[in-house]
Amino acid sequence: MNHEKKHRFQTRVIHAGQSPGKWHGATLPPIFQTASHLHPTAENLSQTFAGKKTDHIYMRLTNPTNRALEEKLTDLEGGQGAVVMSSGMAAITNACMALLRAGDEFVSGNSLFMSTYLLFFNVFKKYDITPRLVESTDIEAIEKAINSKTRFVYLETIGNPKMDIPDLTRVAEIAHNNGLPLLVDNTLATPYLCRPLELGADVVIHSTTKYLSGHGVAVGGVVIDGGQFSWPKERFPDFEPFIDRKGPLAFLDKVWREHHINFGTSQAPMHSYLTAIGLDTLALRMEKHMENTLTVAQYLQKKPEVCWVNYPGLPDHPSHGIARKLFEDKGFGGMLTFGLKDQAACFRFIDNLQLVYHLANLGDCKTLAIHPYSSQYISFDDPTRENLSITPDMIRLSVGIEAHEDICEDIGQALES
Ligand code: PLP
Repeated sequence: MNHEKKHRFQTRVIHAGQSPGKWHGATLPPIFQTASHLHPTAENLSQTFAGKKTDHIYMRLTNPTNRALEEKLTDLEGGQGAVVMSSGMAAITNACMALLRAGDEFVSGNSLFMSTYLLFFNVFKKYDITPRLVESTDIEAIEKAINSKTRFVYLETIGNPKMDIPDLTRVAEIAHNNGLPLLVDNTLATPYLCRPLELGADVVIHSTTKYLSGHGVAVGGVVIDGGQFSWPKERFPDFEPFIDRKGPLAFLDKVWREHHINFGTSQAPMHSYLTAIGLDTLALRMEKHMENTLTVAQYLQKKPEVCWVNYPGLPDHPSHGIARKLFEDKGFGGMLTFGLKDQAACFRFIDNLQLVYHLANLGDCKTLAIHPYSSQYISFDDPTRENLSITPDMIRLSVGIEAHEDICEDIGQALES
């Protein structure tokens, strides 16, 4: 089968990166469960180590099952290359570390997943790296925070759990006008809803643990390089050897060669296999996730126990307009937050759920609820929680693909009981 870009997303999500001919006719990448690979000659291994051949050497470096997933994800995001990693956090860590040196700064939206925030402030700070956090949707603030030490701009397409959506096109313009790349965590949107590289971003990161795998069974991450950024010498002098070696894929080479293989953040091939199975149904799942989430948001708005509902699909949401533009009216994602009277009411709600699972994940085909303030963000002080919009009255709901009537009925009985 010809996998040229002419196929639509719904087709590519199933067929891209497939090589049944190489896999003895198998239509999903087999699990290559081998720590290292045999080489026919000393010259072949030497050439592979030198990066002149793309054969496999050792699982910490590359693996054929992982490579098939990398090819599929590169295609779906419209990039030029990808490296899958052991988790979304591994992908974020390696992508940022490839750019940062002691004394550097970067500008990030303040709408950040918990561990990303902790990485930026608890880990990077130890190495004299300064994150400048600004309101994700405040374009002027992003521009103002850039200075001669800034190495990149970082955003989440849909902030977790703030649910705000920055104008990626405008931020990419500002970053580029200042000679900087834009890195985007596209986990919540998925390439079904948004392809940041097509909007001007330079690097896309995912936690594949979420919607891409879709069944809550495989932790994983990926860094996808758009291959368009030129890494000007004045600001990125350390890129020279990588540009010489890999040209447009200099960044990915730096991520892989300098960090991924030395930090040992390799993806288990079993996880790539499970993610590849999940991806086959991504388009269908996203449609149903988003249809259900809008229905649940509208249902919650009518419940007297619910004080507020935060979902970009609601017309009065501050990010509704930009979501329609960036996501081309395909939808608004599968997650929402809503407010009850106080923390005690949130605990009662969670404890009374019967169908909806109470667990710390999202993007699963099952509906999941959590009280972030008392769980993932328990170690944060109140001013930080406030800055990240984590309030004691907030429930986060990742809406699954069950019958929406059953999801609403369970939420309804938990609210009333
Ligand atoms: N990015 C976002 C937006 C997330 O929600 C998460 C996890 O919830 C991550 C990154 C981290 O991913 P992982 O748990 O696969 O390391």
